[in-house]
Amino acid sequence: MGSTGKIRNSKGSVLVIGAGGVGAVAAHKCAQLTNVFEHVMLASRTLSKCANVRNEIRVKSGRDIQIASVDANKVPELVALIKKFRPDVIINAALPYQNLSIMDACLETGVHYIDTACHETPECIGFEYKAQWAYQDRFKTKGLMAVLGCGFDPGVTNVFAAYAQKNVFDEIHHIDILDCNAGSHGRHFSTNFNTEINLREITQPARYWKDGNWIEAPTILDKGCVHLPFDYPCVGTKDSYLLYHEEMESLVRHIKGLRRIRFWMTFSESYLTHLRVLRNVGLTGIDAVDHDGSKVVPVRFLQTLLPEPASLAPNYTGKTVIGNIMTGVKDNRKKSVYIYNVCDHAECYDEVCAQAISYTSGVPAMIAAMLIISGVWNDAGVFNVEQLDPDVFMDKLNAHGLPWQIVGREPFPEATGVV
Ligand code: NDP
Repeated sequence: MGSTGKIRNSKGSVLVIGAGGVGAVAAHKCAQLTNVFEHVMLASRTLSKCANVRNEIRVKSGRDIQIASVDANKVPELVALIKKFRPDVIINAALPYQNLSIMDACLETGVHYIDTACHETPECIGFEYKAQWAYQDRFKTKGLMAVLGCGFDPGVTNVFAAYAQKNVFDEIHHIDILDCNAGSHGRHFSTNFNTEINLREITQPARYWKDGNWIEAPTILDKGCVHLPFDYPCVGTKDSYLLYHEEMESLVRHIKGLRRIRFWMTFSESYLTHLRVLRNVGLTGIDAVDHDGSKVVPVRFLQTLLPEPASLAPNYTGKTVIGNIMTGVKDNRKKSVYIYNVCDHAECYDEVCAQAISYTSGVPAMIAAMLIISGVWNDAGVFNVEQLDPDVFMDKLNAHGLPWQIVGREPFPEATGVV
């Protein structure tokens, strides 16, 4: 599905949009692979950020990438840049607000598309794939590929599910995705990826899917929130909170026989206390307020106060552990496996001047670009990652800095309360 498995051995050009934490990693990793990415360009609103990344890449890989300034909300600006640089594929590492404009520009110029986060709009809390899935016919007709949500989660977690469906189970019944950041950046409070997008996501009510229905639970900040301790490999036991996360929307469609899927993320007491206060005083709000005669969006003001995600990297220690526990049947016997990656913040910094959250998202986006350029993934249309052949992707994760483990284990525990 989604692949001929043929490798063309051809080179291509990639345009990375967004010079933040994730975009910088994608640019570094593409620049490392001269045999795949003949030309690499990084474009963002702020040219100086692109220049900083270009300088880092010179030091780390001895390679010069091209840089440009672009406002990715503006399709004509994007089209002009694409026509000048002529990439084969775009990695959208800007914000989910830009997904549709970049997809439009790809269609207009005949370029493949990859992103790492599901479309949403600044005005409304919430995200869903509907608007991007609606591009299916247009990408198919043009013979182009759009790969949605190809970071780590979403992204690698979808690949883990596809790999398990193809190679481990006859049918998967339960998936629990567990995202643990056991790192320390030494700040009182910070988000590990774009503050506005991150806080919009985690202050929503939690939601999971069971027997065809979405079931809502309190947010991670409210009484009755669902959480339990889980003993993660390498980092030990961490309290893990039920959250809604976008890969569940596509996995419930594409994993046959699925009965329940949940997503869990670790948070420290200190993080939750800070966030509860910020929310309670209105600083996570998305609606503009009047301040001294100007309109201010509280969460954007908060973002201005907090460190940029990429700036956390130099002093970050510890590890992330992200993976899926999946339970199902093989040859009529019940089976449960855990597939996961452990990533070390300081090692990411040594390699590409980044912290592990940016690294674990930028590397999969680079792998998707590599698989498209080399012809391994070559279907036309709009795809979530689990619809594409997972085997080569799993090999590339091992080869390019995100090695994974698969172990047999007990099914993930039931949780108390609504779950
Ligand atoms: P950052 O805030 O570090 O970077 C975002 C970048 O987007 C900024 O550098 C900004 O550019 C750029 N940008 C914003 N608006 C525009 C625009 N209109 N035109 C051009 N560039 C723009 O965020 P991250 O790098 O941490 O996250 C980037 C994306 O990756 C987010 O969508 C996030 O949700 C996603 N992500 C996905 C993960 C996954 O596992 N799937 C995990 C982590 C993040 P400038 O600074 O030049 O103004």
